Amino acid sequence: MIESVGVFILGLCLGSFLNVCIARLPENKSIIKPRSFCPECKKSIKWYDNLPVLSYLFLGGKCRFCQKKISIVYPVVELITASLFLFLYSRFGLGLNLANYSILFFLLIVVSFIDIKYHAIPAYLCVLGIIIALVISFFPSLEMLKAGDVPSLGVLPIAGAVKGALFGLGFAYFFKLFGDLFIGLYLSIRKKESIEGEKESLGLGDVDFMGMVGAFLGWQAAILIFFLAPFVALTYTIFALIFKRSHLIPYLPYLSIATFIVFVWGADIWNFIVIL
Ligand SMILES: [Zn+2]
Repeated sequence: MIESVGVFILGLCLGSFLNVCIARLPENKSIIKPRSFCPECKKSIKWYDNLPVLSYLFLGGKCRFCQKKISIVYPVVELITASLFLFLYSRFGLGLNLANYSILFFLLIVVSFIDIKYHAIPAYLCVLGIIIALVISFFPSLEMLKAGDVPSLGVLPIAGAVKGALFGLGFAYFFKLFGDLFIGLYLSIRKKESIEGEKESLGLGDVDFMGMVGAFLGWQAAILIFFLAPFVALTYTIFALIFKRSHLIPYLPYLSIATFIVFVWGADIWNFIVIL
């Protein structure tokens, strides 16, 4: 119990760091310096006002100095990060698996919330994810060399990670080309400029994202995620219609939720499809 609480608190602090990444990376600012400040009045935030979730509740969601509202996104990101971290820890314990999948899901949180805010993500983020996945995949490969057998770790060996990355990128790019062709035809026939502001089927950010999840989770997972995401999007759209919230959400959050579902139930879904 105490162990879980400790892991959760560590997760909250990691979530706090992800908040800094979400706020600063799209503006090309350093994520290390300066220390946190209020985006409205620019006053630097004292440590006791910067405790994950608690400070938000204690301050009533307002800046201590200028009383401007603090975005609810901050505590939400912290709670999601901490819950995921605790989930991964309870599943894998300390070790390479925890590091591997924490990095994957932390990257997903960062790109999703940046995409929600800016409708675009810094191009290097998913590429960085692919590189990290390939580097981590060296460890099970080494283990395989030693044991001369299948590695005991869940992390993909290097061949699987490379295959997953290339497959994810190629697969998504193929659908992007076809989708763009289709949309282009539609627009020229209907003599329109765009469909609700969209001219592309998938953005290059979505393609890079597919390369990243392929590198971390393998090519089968990439296929499942790609075809599951539209259903996640559809579910949200139905909820949005029922509750009359017509926020147009970009695609990466749906892909991220699909990734989590496939991470947890992917093997079951895959086996079910293969049997069919
Ligand atoms: Zn302020």
